[in-house]
Amino acid sequence: MNYYGNPITRLIEELAALPGIGGKSAQRLAFHILHMPQEKAEALSAAILEAREKMRYCSVCCNLTEEEVCPVCANLKRDHKMIMVVEDPRDMAAYERTKEYHGVYHVLHGAISPMTGVTPQDIRIQELLRRIDSGVDEVILATNPNVEGEATAMYISRLLKPLGVKVTRIANGVPVGGDLEYVDEITLSRALEGRREM
Ligand code: ZN
Repeated sequence: MNYYGNPITRLIEELAALPGIGGKSAQRLAFHILHMPQEKAEALSAAILEAREKMRYCSVCCNLTEEEVCPVCANLKRDHKMIMVVEDPRDMAAYERTKEYHGVYHVLHGAISPMTGVTPQDIRIQELLRRIDSGVDEVILATNPNVEGEATAMYISRLLKPLGVKVTRIANGVPVGGDLEYVDEITLSRALEGRREM
């Protein structure tokens, strides 16, 4: 199957290993990259390496950041007594776009999924529990409204309630099975406003 010679075959294989990129897309992208001016290709590979090297997890909320503590956690104007739990940094970005939420976040980096073998230990639940003390008034569970997101919310709620903290779940205003990232800002604001205690 090595029609093109090793370097281009290797590039196609690396691209095809990315999520959402099939064999045909990988070939198309690989040939596009080959035809780029040299400096464009260098900028692309440098951007990949720089992102990989410089980005790390916020030591408080596990969001991706260049700093030890991310800009949201470092912002003293935010309400640090309110923690919104999301699955992904992209969900956090979606809530930030609403400009309606002024608390802080906790990013799980996934959801519990027996189907794909993701256990509670595989996502950042322990890091969340460590943040819960008397200074926290409310934890808003804003995991996705699908089977995995609901199971994750239930699991976390059971861990948090004995600690005496108020636990709420965003309303079902968001389409079932929809990823939060793709939901518009008005729908997200309504989901947040309509949250209920678990
Ligand atoms: Zn943070």
